[in-house]
This record gives sequence, structure tokens and C-alpha cells, in this order.
Amino acid sequence: MPRSKYIVGNWKMHGSLPDNAARLAALCASVTEQDNVAVCVPFPYLAQTQHMLAQSHIRWGAQNVSEYLGGAYTGEVAVSMLHDFGCHCVIVGHSERRALYGESDGQVATKAKTAAGSGLQPIICVGETLEERESDKTAAVVTRQLSAVLDSLDKSEKARLVVAYEPVWAIGTGRAANPDDIRKMHVLLRDLLRRAECDNTPLLYGGSVKAGNAQAILHIDHVDGALVGSASLNPEEFLDIIKAVRP
Ligand code: PEP
Repeated sequence: MPRSKYIVGNWKMHGSLPDNAARLAALCASVTEQDNVAVCVPFPYLAQTQHMLAQSHIRWGAQNVSEYLGGAYTGEVAVSMLHDFGCHCVIVGHSERRALYGESDGQVATKAKTAAGSGLQPIICVGETLEERESDKTAAVVTRQLSAVLDSLDKSEKARLVVAYEPVWAIGTGRAANPDDIRKMHVLLRDLLRRAECDNTPLLYGGSVKAGNAQAILHIDHVDGALVGSASLNPEEFLDIIKAVRP
């Protein structure tokens, strides 16, 4: 049976109570049971999101989580806290976390294990920088990033895994990767997942997905959905992306 395409919005550090209310209400009114949609919101808005989406067909989650279960880790948020607010998923190892906050492959793997072990769906981001791409290191970089996670998970944790291929140079630039490159990278990642007995892991693409290119990207072989940043802030555009994968 083909996997249904999964559309995940990453709001990053955007939003306010009134803006979120308008955005979530617009999504609730149009997302149907047949859609497969989640939004990852900033921590302070999880309560509002839970309240507004509880009766909807949309799931929600966070954009980061601590690798520790609790304790003296000022400023961090534990998996149990995400469960308190009904989270379904959490983005782990986004390139902005790796680049701006120094998250290592090892840390990303531990966070993925902690999240999956608690019952959350970790959405693991992998992808090369422009410099790595230009020096032909793309395959080696994403293989290293994904292998670190796969090596750390047991069978039941692997069952919750989602992977997003997000070339760093395509994020927030308006310049999505071209279909051939997306296909090539998804074949490589799918093969790595198969070898780790993760045949059913959804494999998303992220990086400047918009209403205008969603159809083309989401119908590439091995693309099981999209991780959408800036376009997820505009409900009309996000809904157009969601509609692009409806049968
Ligand atoms: C992202 O932040 O994961 C992302 C894909 O952003 P954008 O869609 O804005 O490129």
C-alpha cells in the first residue's frame, strides 16, 4: 500500500497568540481526515496549539527537545513535557540547530532515541551545506548524519522515525533542489534506511517548498512528503501544498 504523503509545517521562531489563532483556525477549517498534516510550533505555543487542534485532523509537535529526561538543564525542554501538551512529533537535528547551536551527530542521535523511546515521532533532518555540495561531499555527509541516528535506535524506536532530506542551501532561499537531485538523494537515503530495516520510514523533502513547486516535488519517486518552513506560515499557501498531494 502506498504511504500517504506527510506535510509538516515548521513555524521556526515565528508567531504570536493572535496570529497563531488565525492560522490554526484556517487550517482546521480545511484539513480533512484524508490529509496527513502536522505543525511544529515554538514551545510557548504548544498549549494554544493543543487547545485549538485537539478536535481537528491536524497533529502538532515541537522543533527541538532535550536529550535528557529531566534535571538541572536550564532552558531545556524534556520529552515528558512535550507529551503533557499532546505532541505527536518533534523535529530533531534541523540544520539551524546544527549550525547555530552546534548540535553534533551524536547529540542528534541521542535526542532521536530519547524522543522515539518516549513514543514521539522524531523528524530527523539531514542535508549538506553549499560548500559540502560543491566539494562533492553530499552523499558522505547525509550518510554520516543518518547513520549516526540509525545506529542508535532499536527496532521499536525505528518504527517511529521520519527522515527529512533538507539541503541547507535550499532552506529559506526560495531555491528548491532540482527534481533530479532530490530523486538521487532520496534513492540514496531510502537505500540506507532499507539496510537498517527501516523500509517504512517516511522520507520527506524540505527546502523552499511552495504552492508553486509542491506538485512537482511531491510526486518525485521516494518523496513521501515535505517539511515546509516559511510557506507554512501562510495558511492559504500551506493548504495549497496539502491539496497538492490529495488524490
Ligand atoms: C525548514 O526550515 O525546514 C524549511 C524547509 O524552510 P523553508 O521551507 O522556508 O525553506
